[in-house]
Amino acid sequence: MIDDRFIYLKIYSSNEKKVIIKKLDEIVKYVAAAQLPNSIENIHPEFVKVQVILARTNLARKMRMFGGKGCLKYSDCDICDEGHCITILYDDELKRIWKDRYNKIISIIEESIKATEGLVITMNNRPIIAEFHNTCGGATENSENVIGNRVMYLRKVLCDYCLNSPNWEGYKEISIEEIEEKLKVRFPNLTPTLKIDMKGFIEEIDRDDEGRITSIKIGGKVFKGTEVKEILGLDSTRFSIAPKILGVKTRGQGDGLGLCQYGANQMALMGFKFDDIINYYFTGVEIRKIEKPCIKKPLKEKILVIDPGHGGDDNIGAEGPGGLREKDVVLKISKRLKEFLENLGATVYLTRDEDEYVSLNKRAELANKIRPNFFISIHLNSFSNSLIRGCEMYYYKGDRESLGLAKCIMNSMVKNLDVINRGIKVAAFFLLREVGTSSLHIDIDYVTNPEVEKLLKNNEYIDKIAESITQGIVEYYKF
Ligand SMILES: [Zn+2]
Ligand SMILES: [Zn+2]
Ligand SMILES: [Zn+2]
Repeated sequence: MIDDRFIYLKIYSSNEKKVIIKKLDEIVKYVAAAQLPNSIENIHPEFVKVQVILARTNLARKMRMFGGKGCLKYSDCDICDEGHCITILYDDELKRIWKDRYNKIISIIEESIKATEGLVITMNNRPIIAEFHNTCGGATENSENVIGNRVMYLRKVLCDYCLNSPNWEGYKEISIEEIEEKLKVRFPNLTPTLKIDMKGFIEEIDRDDEGRITSIKIGGKVFKGTEVKEILGLDSTRFSIAPKILGVKTRGQGDGLGLCQYGANQMALMGFKFDDIINYYFTGVEIRKIEKPCIKKPLKEKILVIDPGHGGDDNIGAEGPGGLREKDVVLKISKRLKEFLENLGATVYLTRDEDEYVSLNKRAELANKIRPNFFISIHLNSFSNSLIRGCEMYYYKGDRESLGLAKCIMNSMVKNLDVINRGIKVAAFFLLREVGTSSLHIDIDYVTNPEVEKLLKNNEYIDKIAESITQGIVEYYKF
């Protein structure tokens, strides 16, 4: 049951193999639980609040209701639980990770969700990308050093709160072979006659004419070649030194972007509150309650360009057996559609609002200037066989958002109109290709079918078409 007091999201469940609807905070729980580092022993509840807010922020950012793009694989949902959207771990896996700490951790998370109800981190009214990492090792990073572009709120901040993290300093031995293989480089092959210095460690190597080492300074101490041979058990005093293994020392763990988890937990232990901690790591952000788009204006802040096809004396489009012309019908539908969408809060532009010729280039130019959420071309279809009827929709290859929208509009049209679903297909029509935002081409029905033509002559039916498309768009943005 959908309860208006809560925010819901559409999630593709890989277990159930279908889209299910869940309360946002129910998913927040499993995202936050997956993100808490189980290497921190004394997890402080105030830090858990921080992690809960980060999880809610990242989820909200993906949700279509708040202007997100949704899951890129399953076009009709906000996220999936396959991992590429966001990591979600359910109870079974969490029990395996947290073992006997599971109950305690989950109850702290549940309390934190209640205590931070609806809170997300925003900048310019949009949920931020709430990046975090395990241990920064002294300072977090400016975003341009990690992801290549400058993000206002991902600035370098100093942090030695994570000094006690086991990941503050790391050490890894990597063999030369591995380095050569992974970095696709070659180390010079050192032969025993070559003289090498490793400044500060191995220096002042003296050799006789045969290439044997007579004396060598290692770590500031001078040895005779024979001493080195003896002590290290070498076969000969004719030796060279080349590294086999490099020891790499690291500071911190993770990419250093955003919030340092060890540092944040330490701040919590020191008495800082969750909002202080978030404001410390994210520069210039706001923490505020997420607002559900108003029920009466579900399309508020959505921008749409509606494109009535054809127009003018030389471009009437398809024509019915009774003389009904495509250019007139699609203009009527588009004008009504604009009204309905505007009533629900959307901002709508038409590429033409009278019977005039507008070139395809002009239409694309207009759309690219406005950069709407969707560009929707409205057309009628025609065929030599007058029995053929039904609705077809087209989107550009790879444009999953338009495919998602097409599914919603098609469902609504089939439910509300006397129309047959003839499929949603990929096409490379000029406008689908040239318009830089998501774009959809709808062939409402076949005007060459006499029964369809009769329906399309009726203004009430025109209204019903516009209404059905509107409902489909609302459905797309719902939850
Ligand atoms: Zn996904
Ligand atoms: Zn740190
Ligand atoms: Zn057309």
